[in-house]
Amino acid sequence: MTVTHEEFRQHTREFLAVNAVPRTGPPVEWTEHKMVEACRRFHGALADAGLGGITYPVEHGGQGLDKSYLEVFNQEVAKYQAPLLPTAISHGMCLPVINEFGTPEQKARHQARIIRCDEIWCQMFSEPGAGSDVASLAMRAVRDGDEWVLNGQKVWTSGAQYCDFGLCVARTDPAQPKHRGLSMFIVDLTLPGVDIRPLRQMNGSSHFNEIYLTDVGVGHECLVGGEGNGWNVAVAMLMYERVAIGAGSSGAMSQAMGSAKLIKEARRRGRGRDPVVRDALADLYIRERIQKFIGMRIRQAAESGRAPGPEGSIAKLNAAILSRRSSDVAIELAGASGQAWDAADEDGADEWASAVIGAPAMAIAGGTNEVQRNIIGERVLGLPKEPDPFKGQPWEEVPRS
Ligand SMILES: Cc1cc2nc3c(=O)[nH]c(=O)nc-3n(C[C@H](O)[C@H](O)[C@H](O)COP(=O)(O)OP(=O)(O)OC[C@H]3O[C@@H](n4cnc5c(N)ncnc54)[C@H](O)[C@@H]3O)c2cc1C
Repeated sequence: MTVTHEEFRQHTREFLAVNAVPRTGPPVEWTEHKMVEACRRFHGALADAGLGGITYPVEHGGQGLDKSYLEVFNQEVAKYQAPLLPTAISHGMCLPVINEFGTPEQKARHQARIIRCDEIWCQMFSEPGAGSDVASLAMRAVRDGDEWVLNGQKVWTSGAQYCDFGLCVARTDPAQPKHRGLSMFIVDLTLPGVDIRPLRQMNGSSHFNEIYLTDVGVGHECLVGGEGNGWNVAVAMLMYERVAIGAGSSGAMSQAMGSAKLIKEARRRGRGRDPVVRDALADLYIRERIQKFIGMRIRQAAESGRAPGPEGSIAKLNAAILSRRSSDVAIELAGASGQAWDAADEDGADEWASAVIGAPAMAIAGGTNEVQRNIIGERVLGLPKEPDPFKGQPWEEVPRS
């Protein structure tokens, strides 16, 4: 017998009351290490309680429920300070890709472990010479008997410093045009030849990494979606990424400074009646509502079984604009303390400043605003495609820097 939404909600509430701290409680201070540990514990407990991998098949560690139950779970978990950030990519992008393209063996080997966070995964796409035009990437994978040997460099790999596996797109046939000669691999990040180097950001943290692969041998069984099909797998993963960022399904990359919080701050700082501030807050509120409706539309389309399409780009673009605007209002309210702060500041200026410094990332991660506009122009508005003078030419013959 299928559980009703109300029963499911009640069970989720009982679980969260015991296993997470409400948002109304004291803020939980997590170092990255503690957050990752807490995340692994939290998802293990979720799975034990019958709440892990809600929409995934029961035989692979999920609950076999439809997306409406996920919506219920997300509504409830949003009231808590749950340690979800390390799973944004692992659950938001890698798990659905394994579910869609993985072999039965890959699903049996990994899905339940990803759901429980016994394995956390990252996305290894971008390279120093291939970001927006990721199909031009140069990481090589060469077949050697039962193995593929990978060589090259990835960059901007979020969370690799604590991840166990990566989904890595590499070039298996340089004689093919750029989109065709690619394949997707599961890479165990503990293998010899994997060198993960954290990059330091302007806010002091190290969220991204460079990853160098030198003669890293992965078994043929690590190929996801078949040889030469890497671009299709990568595109599906990018769609999941945009939806996760834009529709907030992972709950991890949502805007740090929402209008409700900013309205409270404006009042606290005696700016609640300032017409310029009120105008900016009203604008923000309206845009948030629009974002919410875009998210609902995407989730409803997903519930009816449609694969994510260009609406993910609309959501992602709007989320980036919203993030920027809310940080602009925050900095306006914070004044000088939004730019120079002390850890001991009592008015939370450090949190404000880090939201402001972090806002531009939203306009780049998962494809830049310009790239989303191109996709919307071509796939929604029907505008002509961007000209590519090297279209159809073998990748190895295309000049690159
Ligand atoms: C927070 C964050 C997390 C990330 N996490 C990951 C990750 O986990 N894994 C991963 O693989 N990558 C990750 N990335 C990398 C991200 O995908 C790339 O930074 C992004 O795709 C842009 O590529 P690029 O930095 O090489 O910029 P470029 O592609 O070099 O672009 C430079 C500028 O040119 C513009 N531009 C490029 N092409 C066009 C065009 N055709 N039309 C108009 N303008 C154009 C861009 O908009 C941009 O302003 C992350 C990035 C950020 C900021």
